[in-house]
Amino acid sequence: MQPIYTIDAFIEKITKEDKNYDLDKIVFAYETAARLHKNQKRDSGEPYITHPLAVAYIALSLGMDTDTICAALLHDTVEDTEYTLDELSKDFGADVAMLVDGVTKLGKIPMATKEEQQAENIRKIILATSQDIRVILIKLCDRLHNMRTLHYRTDVKRRATALETMNIYAPLAHRLGIRPIKEELEDLAFQFLDPYAYEEIEKQMKLRKDQREEIIESIKKKIADRLSKDFDPVPYIDGRVKSNYGIYKKVYRDGKDLDQIYDRYAVRVIVNTVTECYGVLGIIHDMFKPIPNRFKDYISTPKSNMYQSLHTTVIGKEGIVFEVQIRTWEMHKTAEFGIAAHWKYKEGISGKTKNDERLNWIRKIIEAQKESDDVEEIVRTIKTDLAPEDIFAYTPKGDMISLPLGATVIDFAYAIHTQVGHRMTGAKVDNKMVSIDHQIKTGEIVEIITSKDENHGPSRSWLKICKTNEARSKIRSWYKKERREENIFEGRNELRRELRRNMIHLDDEELKELLEQDIKRHNCETLDDFFAAIGYGGVTLSKIIPRLKQNYNKKYAEDRKDTQIQIDKQLKTSSGTSSGIIVDGINDCAVKFAKCCTPLPGDDVIGFITKGHGISVHKRDCQKYRLQKDDPELSGRWVDVLWAEERSTTYFSATLDIVAHDRIGLMADIVNTISTLRIQMHEATGRELKNGNANVIVTVSIAGKEQLEGLMQKIRKIDSVMSVDRSNKQ
Ligand code: MN
Repeated sequence: MQPIYTIDAFIEKITKEDKNYDLDKIVFAYETAARLHKNQKRDSGEPYITHPLAVAYIALSLGMDTDTICAALLHDTVEDTEYTLDELSKDFGADVAMLVDGVTKLGKIPMATKEEQQAENIRKIILATSQDIRVILIKLCDRLHNMRTLHYRTDVKRRATALETMNIYAPLAHRLGIRPIKEELEDLAFQFLDPYAYEEIEKQMKLRKDQREEIIESIKKKIADRLSKDFDPVPYIDGRVKSNYGIYKKVYRDGKDLDQIYDRYAVRVIVNTVTECYGVLGIIHDMFKPIPNRFKDYISTPKSNMYQSLHTTVIGKEGIVFEVQIRTWEMHKTAEFGIAAHWKYKEGISGKTKNDERLNWIRKIIEAQKESDDVEEIVRTIKTDLAPEDIFAYTPKGDMISLPLGATVIDFAYAIHTQVGHRMTGAKVDNKMVSIDHQIKTGEIVEIITSKDENHGPSRSWLKICKTNEARSKIRSWYKKERREENIFEGRNELRRELRRNMIHLDDEELKELLEQDIKRHNCETLDDFFAAIGYGGVTLSKIIPRLKQNYNKKYAEDRKDTQIQIDKQLKTSSGTSSGIIVDGINDCAVKFAKCCTPLPGDDVIGFITKGHGISVHKRDCQKYRLQKDDPELSGRWVDVLWAEERSTTYFSATLDIVAHDRIGLMADIVNTISTLRIQMHEATGRELKNGNANVIVTVSIAGKEQLEGLMQKIRKIDSVMSVDRSNKQ
């Protein structure tokens, strides 16, 4: 079924192209590859050289240049034979060597089945190929041929490769706008991932094949007849049925009936100018009844992969629903070849295409990489950006804005203009006020309400709400620029809070010493710079705390031991003989309290059997419990636990009188300190004193004098606290 690839046929195909290919170089590349792979075979039993030759064929069909075709022919030589990169460079030049090296490196990125890892791999692919986009194009050709021959491989291998293709390579092809490769990759992968569904759709489609072709032909003819009145010659009209995977997505994922899939039949009209596009649209809407809300103007608002066309769905006289796509020839080239159109239709463009919008996406990701060290976040962004589904909403003026699925009004605002985003105070969707985390759906009209104040800025919390990389990096850079003092303050507080949670007490000098490496790594000069970076989100705390803790433990191990003993003592006293927790009738069981939700006596709690560390006690409304309780692998490890009842009787109430310089977060810090020690608090009130200080009164349940003194000592260490006393007024 697969075409048989021979070098003679290949040469013939090249000579037919009206481009200046260096045939000698290509033949030499073929001969070199054939010689090097001489004794190797594919899993199909064919000589290995059939594979690079097939890859070169696909590259040629994309219109790739001489060097790319040579690299396609040689792409497996360095990896699989004795041939070295140096030799290759001597034989074929630095460019071909760089391309082969890039493809080889890509091949070494390990296969992953976990979603997160896959996205991480995409990030690596993007970084590896940011030098020259031709690398990824060769890799796509390579993957396409491997997918075409996948049935020769083992079952396990098949599934993994198909999954990776579906999750990484097809979306990449989509991103780069190469529709035929994207669709073929998807269809091939789908065939291996869900063979039964694939077969079913194939069967269904075959069943009505004649009928379908008849329908398409008659629609095409009708349109051609009508267009012939206004156009001479008649525009090119093409009809097709949606790809199998496209149908599968609608049937299985969106739960649609095969007959309900509107765009199952699609007719494409290709004209010469944009004006003609809209002209044809008018005629189509005149001939057939358009379905409301199904018209999409991708000409005025191209998709993020530069795709342009008018789409409309209409109903014919017989009640048959079909989609019409209208575009110019120029747009058609982009739709079919995407980024490869540079090579196919424009000559002399090197791999370092600087001005392609599609590469902006890659560039943005690399920029984001520089801005933030939070790999997970970058990976999350890539995943959203890669999701092929775009939504589109409108401004009140009718301009269409396209955004990734799940985008919020914040993303919408920033997509209009940076300043609109910065000045946003609220948003209306279809004339109703919505909350800032409203997720936009296709077709909604979104009005952004902005402040007149030029200095109005975004809220920090938006960073967690917005979906697009664009919005996030704009918000971040606003904070970076506009709010240094605030960033330092916020950053310092955030870090201090986190340190206290970990029972680490350090002054700025000590902190600077322990953080030295991190400060350097983030190109900060002073500790304040570093605080500022934390403040605007350029440095993520969760990434630096573990190392900081390690350094701290190394340096202050002795002190730490003391604290630990003290805490252990406190835990002991607070519960008489055990932790104060009863586990399903067992009395003596190692129990610790989860850091994520810090349960206190009286809270509704649940226990989790950890591997080797006894039972970890969570609040019942802890996120972790809610997320994991239905996980089949973990659900069995959750057990019922109770607070030991007698414990409350051994407690007495104590009131502390605290005086401190008033500052933001003071109360929170005091409460945190108390709960970290697992001490139950009944009451906390604060008031401002005339001299600008604050007086906080807290009442706690305490097991004994020793515990109370421990608590007072801890509170005294909180920033800005001046005095802590036991109060007599109860
Ligand atoms: Mn290969």
